[in-house]
Amino acid sequence: MGKKITQKPRGTKDIWGEDQKYFKYVQNVFETVAEEAGFGKIETPAFEDTKLFERGVGKETDVGKEMYTFKDKSGNSLTLRPEGTAPVVRAYLENGMQSQPQPVNLYYFSNFFRYERPQAGRYREFWQLGLEVIGDKSPLVDANIIATVSRIYKKLNIKNISIQINSMGCAICRPKYIKILKKYYSGNLNKLCPDCKKRYKTNPLRLLDCKNEKCVVLQAEAPQLINNLCSACHDHFKTVLEYIDELEINYDLNPKIVRGLDYYTGTVFEVWNEKDGAQSSLGGGGRYDGLVELLGGSKTPAVGFGGGVERTMEEMEREGVEFVEKKNVNIFVAQLGSKARKKCFKLLNDLLDAGIGAEARFDKGGIGEQLKVASKLGVEYTLLIGQREAFDGTVIIKDMASGNQEVFPYEKVVKVMTKRLNKPE
Ligand code: AMP
Repeated sequence: MGKKITQKPRGTKDIWGEDQKYFKYVQNVFETVAEEAGFGKIETPAFEDTKLFERGVGKETDVGKEMYTFKDKSGNSLTLRPEGTAPVVRAYLENGMQSQPQPVNLYYFSNFFRYERPQAGRYREFWQLGLEVIGDKSPLVDANIIATVSRIYKKLNIKNISIQINSMGCAICRPKYIKILKKYYSGNLNKLCPDCKKRYKTNPLRLLDCKNEKCVVLQAEAPQLINNLCSACHDHFKTVLEYIDELEINYDLNPKIVRGLDYYTGTVFEVWNEKDGAQSSLGGGGRYDGLVELLGGSKTPAVGFGGGVERTMEEMEREGVEFVEKKNVNIFVAQLGSKARKKCFKLLNDLLDAGIGAEARFDKGGIGEQLKVASKLGVEYTLLIGQREAFDGTVIIKDMASGNQEVFPYEKVVKVMTKRLNKPE
């Protein structure tokens, strides 16, 4: 009997084969859009001092309660990153990015960890693509992030999405609104689900995005923050909307978008897949003018977005989005006989040295078997060396589409292929 195989931890996955094609494609499209818009990539550590997330995310928020926290061998409390914004702000402060021209535009494509109950679209390790603009308070920056996000999904050819927008107000108007909201709910406490009874005390804004049927009924009549914004927040929000109108981006004003994390202020938005609505949000973001200060910096406005990569891939599969994969292997090298095998081995490595993608199967003897592999790989050319070519010092170049065959001296082959495949010499 074989030994038992160790399995991956619950809620994690291997990304390979077909999934890896989607994963790579999403990453390529996202990174190209981000770089073309002037964002620079940042990689931060997969774990941070626990204090960073306790301050930046809050212990009592949904994300704060799901953290993977552990002590290392020196007794330091560390946490696997549950989200990307607090680490990026930490890096901004620690690396002195405040003294660079503002704003600083950063993007990331990283894995995150949350101890959640695994289910469809919800994992314990998952990937997010993210954008952060730190150091600019203009409403145009909010509009520009929304435009960039909209461009990402457009370039991925995802059609069934909608952008849901709201404003969460600021330190002046939000507390006043929360009082109004609590007053509304105070007469209805017995109608709330047990979680919302707690939210009433700890995080009343979250009363607005509970999915429980009873709570949804109460939400319909609840006073809306958008009608209670101070004049600065009102003007800011109005400008954001005017600018995204200018780009003809479709959005819905949605008073229920309140985002789970404590640090959001002003504009907040989510990208939904239209079929599943809030149950499957592809991503979310907004303005977080309070976070830099909360993490020890000077008062600095900022705005960002984080999108789930797995959910994006799942939506692409569901919509049957087709894309052309960048092909890295254009040539198959086939051999017949032991002398030819050695020459083919050299030819294969000469091609790779020249930056031309090529494969061979040295364990397969018959030429028929090897050609089958070549057509399965979908290569443009097969290069053949049989006993005769090995003796003559030549190579047969077979064009797989037309079936044409030509013979070239071995020394010329890499040059000929470089030209035919339009590779830089
Ligand atoms: P959040 O940081 O909670 O605003 O999440 C932003 C996006 O990340 C969500 O809209 C999801 O697409 C994705 N996401 C969050 N948590 C998970 C998870 N546990 N598994 C997979 N994707 C997730």
